[in-house]
Order: sequence, then C-alpha cells, then structure tokens
Amino acid sequence: MRVSRRDFLKISGIAAGSLFVRELGFNLDAVEAKVPELKIASCKATPTICPYCSCGCGILIYTKSGKLIGSEGDPDHPINQGALCSKGSAVRQIHETDRRVTKPLYRAPGSDRWEEKSWDWMLERIAERVKETRDATFVREENGIIVNRTDGIANLGGAALDNEEAYLLHKFARALGITYLEHQARI
Ligand code: SF4
Repeated sequence: MRVSRRDFLKISGIAAGSLFVRELGFNLDAVEAKVPELKIASCKATPTICPYCSCGCGILIYTKSGKLIGSEGDPDHPINQGALCSKGSAVRQIHETDRRVTKPLYRAPGSDRWEEKSWDWMLERIAERVKETRDATFVREENGIIVNRTDGIANLGGAALDNEEAYLLHKFARALGITYLEHQARI
C-alpha cells in the first residue's frame, strides 16, 4: 500500500488523538474491538477446512457480492478454535493468485507440455486407465486363497477430504480390490 505524505499525517493524527483520548481516561477497548468487525459486517461467512495439512483447521471465508473480502480462523471449530498458522492465514492467496490452475491439465506420456482438457474428457480417461490397469493386474487367487485384489493401483487421500468423502473413497477403492490405501492426514 502506498502512503502519501497527506495520508501519513492523517494516520499520525488519528494515532496521536487516540493516545490523547486514552490519556483522558476513556476506555477505547470496545471501539477498537468493533473495528475488525466493520469490514466483514455485511459479508456472507462460509465455513471451510484449510487444505494444507493434516490438522484440518476450520476457516471462515467472507464474501460480498460474490467477491472474497477476507478469511479468518473459525472460532467455533473444535480443532483450531479460531487460530491459524501462517499458511492457513494466507489461504485467500489460493483464490487470488494468477497462477491458480482453474482447468484440468493433461500431460501425455513422454510429452514435455501440459494441455487443457475438459472435465468430461479427463474423467473418461481416468476411468479407462483404472479399468485397463485393474484388468491387467487383478489377482483372483493366491496360494489357493481367494484374494480378489489389484496391486497395480494405489489410493491416496488428503486433508481436504472430510470424513464422509474419505469413507466413500475408501469403500470405492476396496470395491475395486485396491489394497494400497494411504492418507496424508494423521490426526
Ligand atoms: S491452518 Fe496451518 S495448521 Fe491448520 S490445517 Fe492449515 S496449514 Fe495446517
């Protein structure tokens, strides 16, 4: 933020005035406590989960007319109770950065470049690859025991998944016969 000489004098005057009023014995705590509220007073608060690590801290995202205005730790969340680390505090940068990936990208085997693809194309390709790999690696029986598993696919979960999503993903993987299941979140 650029601060002109005029702005600097205004800010200095307000700070000096605030100190002076305090010196007179007025308690400004209630006024100061209201200041952060004003910016988000008419915003919509949407609770979400930090996508970065396995702690799964709760975050409130504030939006106004579809625009992101601010974010802060969710005081009602049982894990972080309003606190956030530096990564979680900067989470809005994911939304604001011009480096954000907003479309599926595909890099063909052996290629050195990414191509934009539609979600339909991408999901069909993933389904084809899963089917091909499962068919090629499925083991029905081992040492006379029915095992019905595939060693050719692994499943990795992440902290951005909630309990229900992780449960469904786990069921889906088991139904395919996947035995290599891992999850990045460990709480
Ligand atoms: S705020 Fe920090 S500690 Fe909490 S989930 Fe995000 S990265 Fe992890």
